[in-house]
Amino acid sequence: MGKVSLMIDGRKVTVEEGMTILEAAKSIGIEIPHLCYMEGLPPTGACRLCVVEVEGAKTLVPSCSYPVSEGMVVWTNTERVRKARRLVIELLISDHPLDCMTCEKSGSCLLEKYAYELGVSKSRFDGERHSYPIDDTNPFFERDYSKCVLCGRCVTVCQEVQYQGVIDFIYRGFRTKIGAEFDKPLGETDCVSCGNCVLVCPVGALIEKGRKRMGREWELEKIETTCPYCGCGCSLTIHVKDNRIVKVTSRSEGTVNQGWLCVKGKFAFEFTHHPDRLTKPLIKENGRFREASWNEALSLVAKKLGELKEKYGPDSIAGLSSAKCTNEENYLFQKFMRAVVGTNNVDHCARLCHASTVAGLARAFGSGAMTNSIDEIADAECILVTGSNTTENHPIIALRIKEAVMKNGAKLIVADPRKIELVSFATLWLRQRPGTDVALFNGMMNVIISEELHNEEFIEARTEGFELFRDFIKDYTPEAVERITGVPAERIIEAARIYAKARRSSIIYSMGITQHTTGTDNVLALANLAMLTGNVGRESTGVNPLRGQNNVQGACDLGALPNVFPGYQRVDDPEVRAKFERAWGVDLPSEPGLTVVEMMHAVEEGKIKAMYIMGENPALSDPNLNRTRKALQKLDFLVVQDIFLTETAEYADVVLPAASAFEKDGTFTNTERRIQRVRKAIDPPGEAMEDWRIICELAREMGYEMDYDSPAEIMAEIALLTPIYGGIFYDRLEKGGLQWPCTDRTHPGTKFLHKDKFSRGLGKFHITPFRPADELPDDEYPLLLTTGRVLYHWHTRTMTSRVKGLNEIYPEGVVQISSEDAEELGIKDGQLVRVRSRRGEVTARASVTDVVSKGVVFMTFHFRESAANLLTNDALDPIAKIPELKVCAVKIEPEMRDG
Ligand code: SF4
Repeated sequence: MGKVSLMIDGRKVTVEEGMTILEAAKSIGIEIPHLCYMEGLPPTGACRLCVVEVEGAKTLVPSCSYPVSEGMVVWTNTERVRKARRLVIELLISDHPLDCMTCEKSGSCLLEKYAYELGVSKSRFDGERHSYPIDDTNPFFERDYSKCVLCGRCVTVCQEVQYQGVIDFIYRGFRTKIGAEFDKPLGETDCVSCGNCVLVCPVGALIEKGRKRMGREWELEKIETTCPYCGCGCSLTIHVKDNRIVKVTSRSEGTVNQGWLCVKGKFAFEFTHHPDRLTKPLIKENGRFREASWNEALSLVAKKLGELKEKYGPDSIAGLSSAKCTNEENYLFQKFMRAVVGTNNVDHCARLCHASTVAGLARAFGSGAMTNSIDEIADAECILVTGSNTTENHPIIALRIKEAVMKNGAKLIVADPRKIELVSFATLWLRQRPGTDVALFNGMMNVIISEELHNEEFIEARTEGFELFRDFIKDYTPEAVERITGVPAERIIEAARIYAKARRSSIIYSMGITQHTTGTDNVLALANLAMLTGNVGRESTGVNPLRGQNNVQGACDLGALPNVFPGYQRVDDPEVRAKFERAWGVDLPSEPGLTVVEMMHAVEEGKIKAMYIMGENPALSDPNLNRTRKALQKLDFLVVQDIFLTETAEYADVVLPAASAFEKDGTFTNTERRIQRVRKAIDPPGEAMEDWRIICELAREMGYEMDYDSPAEIMAEIALLTPIYGGIFYDRLEKGGLQWPCTDRTHPGTKFLHKDKFSRGLGKFHITPFRPADELPDDEYPLLLTTGRVLYHWHTRTMTSRVKGLNEIYPEGVVQISSEDAEELGIKDGQLVRVRSRRGEVTARASVTDVVSKGVVFMTFHFRESAANLLTNDALDPIAKIPELKVCAVKIEPEMRDG
């Protein structure tokens, strides 16, 4: 695109061709008033406030939609322009309650600002006024139609960013308003409460309920941080008054999320002020907790761990680090386990979500992380989404997928046993039977090779193992694969053609792929598919695992894994170990330690005597919970460090109160390998302390000096020892963070991996034969249970159960069951049912739906009252040791006590 030069208010400006006058003016610091226009949204030209004079034009022109041209002369603030703007403001306030003294928006309301700047305090156009009741049916925000200026920003966001299409302009003439179909209250619509309409409203028409009377806009301190929920890593602006979070917004520039949020990021901060927060250390005596001082609690923990280590050896102790905690805290935790306790028995919940990604992608490419960036998704020509209910689990990434389809014409292939929301955006939906993913991808690759759609040049230059692979894949004809997966052969062929023919094909996957006994093979098969077509090492392509929790990527990167130090440096490599021994000043163990589920099994066998669990909740998140809970009970000593008394903490001997993500400094690494700052917005309650401080205190108590002034100092040590984080320093993270590998201070970070060379040299094709799941339905347990998350809850609800609005929207766990199965079993929608597996049983409410197919049922794992993990199977993938959380056999019957 070329450049054009024009004059604005007497100043020469040269900008890109195609820019609007408003954008060109902004580029030289001239602000033109506007209400309907908003950066990032398509202009509507509705409010007429942004009019300017263009020499030669007969009328004033709307600057938000009028393109610049060579030699154009623009005046943005003449008397003619100001008069037109005053008229607009007068017309608006003629039908606007001028209650600025009590309006929550006062101080950041654009109508108030422009009225002030133009000197308009009353209107000449008094006439009929609207008087609407306030719609307060959404749990998080309310809509006051009387204050609406019909700018349409909220409509544009709902329709063209969120693609939810819940609201629009309704009625005509004077009755025109913004509302849902049939003018339904918001609470009765499909609104997903993302709150992005609230974020863009320029006036007080959309207001967060929780911010009412909490402080005037100008009294709020603003702190930039990163969302404590999913792996998208959205930037949050926390608005604080008197040590309380009043509301959350987000800035659009330099952020992963471009200013948009989901319901959790926008509204789910209330937990941090909840009265259930732990505020003092607790010690259990005679089966009951009592409050204790930090001194007493820490010396008891140090004494107990010391004694057990002395008596049974360091490997009798195990630790679970936390994907919720910061990078610095994960670094210190694994350092504590290795250098202070002397064991590699350290792991965290990545074992339960993406251990197979780490293992599979490291084997195929040499690096176990998302190959590309979130930003690139919108430019992919084909996107294969598999095993990821993206709109619910990674809502902001889902927006980029929708954008690719709706704005850029990308073809979306969804391969998922459930009819997830993205299916309605898909060109093709492949509904494979749960646990048959390997066969499905093998089938697609069979077609690609037999139709010669593979990329020979890429395979020849960049990979190894293709000849063997080509022989192996011959058996996976579409017809043979149809018999295994249930996906019609012609759909497999079509999917293969779409994926292979696109110039930029991107694979996006999540736990539907990884949580299987064949999890590593599933990942390897996807890596094969990308290499076969040369769809890796370029922009908008790649194999992109979406990591679940806010910092699960970072917890892996920083060595909270039993076989590697920070930066995936192997503990059994003598050179690597010697480096860490020198840095930490102690001898370190060389044998890889135990994984999450293996730890619990080792407790059963009496090999593990004590555990230190930081910010994890295995009593709800592990598979086969009855077994895990017995193991926790059997421990000689358990210390849990958390922000609430979790289901796991109830088993503890000592509980240490920690600070939440809003109460500390540090960094998180999001799913695209981006290291971003976490900043303290408020003080922790009572005596609660940041996890990094607690670890340091405990280490000191056990005779090992851990002395850091701040997380920045810890990061400097990380950079020294971890090549992929070698260039990560706090002063470099101020603007949007950096993506690893970032090897030194001058390295700009890495947008996509494996550009000219895979991290392991050549990419490796692996042989991935189909293996069925460990436990399949039979006569006794005839249904297949699969599990997952929902938008409104997170992890084991430790935090989200303390957010009133989320509980109002999604109060309890449900069992999704097909109408055919429901009819056969005599189950009605909403009825209580009992679900049994060989390992346990739960009661939950049935949801009869076509989201699942006959023979398949689905449950979320968030709820303690209907804990799906009492049912799930703890059989492990032999390589990654991830349990088979996605497939097990169950039976269902109506619950007799349900009236
Ligand atoms: Fe937070 Fe994820 Fe929602 Fe972004 S998409 S606001 S990171 S929960």
